[in-house]
Amino acid sequence: MNVILQSLKFAVLCLATFTIAVSAQNASITETHGIAVANMDRSVKPGDDFYQFCNGEWIKRTEIPPDRAEVDVFSRLADLSNKRTADLIEEIAKSNPPAGSGQRKVADLFNSYMDEAAIETKGLAPLRPHLDAIAALHDKRELAHALGETLRADVDALNNTNFYTSNLFGLWVAPGFNDSEHYKAYLMQGGLGLPDREYYLSDSEHMRKLRAQFQSHVSKILKLAGFTDTDTRASRILELEHAIAQTHRSLADNEDIHKANNTWTQADFSAKAPGLNWTEYFRGAGIDDVDSFIVWQPEAFTGESALVASTALDTWKDWLAFHLIEAYAGVLPKSFADERFAFFGKEMSGTTQQRPRWQRGVFLVDGLLGDAVGQVYAQRYFSPEAKAQAQAMVANLIAAFRKRIEALSWMDPATKAEAQAKLSTLYVGIGYPETWHDYSSFEVKPDDIFGNIWRGRLSDYRREVARLGKPVDRKEWSMTPQTVNAVNLPLQNGLNFPAAILQPPFFDPLAPAAANYGAIGTVIGHEISHTFDTEGSAFDSKGRVRNWWTSADLKHFETATAQLAAQYDTYKPFPDISLNGRQTLGENIADVAGIAAAYDGYKASLGGKTAPTQDGFSGDQQFFIAFGQNWGSKTRDAALRQEVMTDPHAPAEYRAATVRNIDAWYAAFNVQPGEKLYLAPPDRVRIW
Ligand SMILES: [Zn+2]
Repeated sequence: MNVILQSLKFAVLCLATFTIAVSAQNASITETHGIAVANMDRSVKPGDDFYQFCNGEWIKRTEIPPDRAEVDVFSRLADLSNKRTADLIEEIAKSNPPAGSGQRKVADLFNSYMDEAAIETKGLAPLRPHLDAIAALHDKRELAHALGETLRADVDALNNTNFYTSNLFGLWVAPGFNDSEHYKAYLMQGGLGLPDREYYLSDSEHMRKLRAQFQSHVSKILKLAGFTDTDTRASRILELEHAIAQTHRSLADNEDIHKANNTWTQADFSAKAPGLNWTEYFRGAGIDDVDSFIVWQPEAFTGESALVASTALDTWKDWLAFHLIEAYAGVLPKSFADERFAFFGKEMSGTTQQRPRWQRGVFLVDGLLGDAVGQVYAQRYFSPEAKAQAQAMVANLIAAFRKRIEALSWMDPATKAEAQAKLSTLYVGIGYPETWHDYSSFEVKPDDIFGNIWRGRLSDYRREVARLGKPVDRKEWSMTPQTVNAVNLPLQNGLNFPAAILQPPFFDPLAPAAANYGAIGTVIGHEISHTFDTEGSAFDSKGRVRNWWTSADLKHFETATAQLAAQYDTYKPFPDISLNGRQTLGENIADVAGIAAAYDGYKASLGGKTAPTQDGFSGDQQFFIAFGQNWGSKTRDAALRQEVMTDPHAPAEYRAATVRNIDAWYAAFNVQPGEKLYLAPPDRVRIW
């Protein structure tokens, strides 16, 4: 699980809209070293609204740029990282790298994306053979084969937590739940054009309106591609997707790995999920020699497979055609990209302008050749000194966790021993991976952006399939160095902290310890704590699915965490929507645990000395303010609604408010009963 879910999945998949946030106004992110006092609103009482207290002035003076759905600290750093990546790509292109090299591919991929004139000239030609193949499907057997051909490695249940694919199903290759020494195939539900089942099933006015707009969008896309009777076709596609949504598991249930650990052999599919011709499906996907799979949501496989049998072939052909065009809208003539943006950018996220094309080009290169750029990025922007300092902080945080676990009164000694063993075998990757992806099988042509993306996704899929059954590399990364995020990989018992997050304002070698521990320290603590949270407690020190807790430990944990879920259920970002405490529970536990451990690490780093003050703020105050400032953000309403529905993380302002669970915060700001965030000591959720 990662520290933020960048809403990039739609962006990267569809190459047209970007809901990830970035600010245009801060060329340099921090001018001072330490907390950003100028961003605070000191007229607000910290005990009433800690988020506004830390970020109020920044919020007042910040406008969300027209091409963004959101601005926050992560996005401002992502802007910097994207700009640097773009410069590197330009440099690479100018250096005229040898044919066939990774660098040549980077240059050719980016340039082919930027060549809009060539895209207009080609028109629908690159799409045509694929549309013709769909039109030529004669029966459900051929349909099953074609559906199999759409399978891609585009989902990720536990690392980057992306449960979405618009294809019928998605593949994730990861260490096996029941054999963590080898890579295994996980299959997941898919098939929706909108982000989640709720978009189809919710009866709220907002969702009904979005559905109507989506239907008209489907019709327009089909019309642009030359289809007739597009309103009728769109209405049938929506009807089919509504039926698919009814078979889908909710996001909160998707996070329960015990419900996900279902091994099916190839033969099981026909017996347990009749309807789809599975033999043809697996043949189309090129995985008919794979013996067994872990089926994450069996009921969705049963339901979707039955729909293949019960829904007319023509409807499925329209559905396939629509999803294909939509997935490539960003590299088809401008009318397609504009229509896609009109719906996903404007209606879904509230942005009024598309990101500049060069930025979308950087996202594309990051998505398909991320390591080829990342290798150069890490060399250029991450010094060995920064790496050593970050490693020292991680060591302090791990030591803090060790002490906390040892001191827990409720945990059984045997459970404690396994928790300590997990800390001992934890792999902590700092900055960049030890090995890089090999892109030799990905053919990039200088003038064929459609084909480049097609081949890129296919070669990525084949690389993942080729790993099935092979021994697990526990030091493998799941993020590129240029990503502003951090991640816990539970099946590998590993963490990744990419170079791009290890810089100011999260991490600044010149800032006082209070600010660094409050900012990046709480992020590191957040990721370490996933090792022991609702999901982490299900994996042992070797990444195996094994409940290493006693039932009494688990009961205490569940009681404490239920209290935290209930706390988040009370937050209402809009009058008609509350947060879902269960959907965001794992991340909320990680936030509380992250602050607690980072606070200990910070205190230990002082070695008994008094911390220096900054602008009259004590060390403890700076620590909590730095944490609160991690979450300063502005989000458009439409995007915030989408986040509440689809993100396992709570919106930023509620993440800042979680300091109310930490005793030291009350002491630091003299928070008293009657103040809005005040919780009586028994109501503060203490887990670690
Ligand atoms: Zn997380």
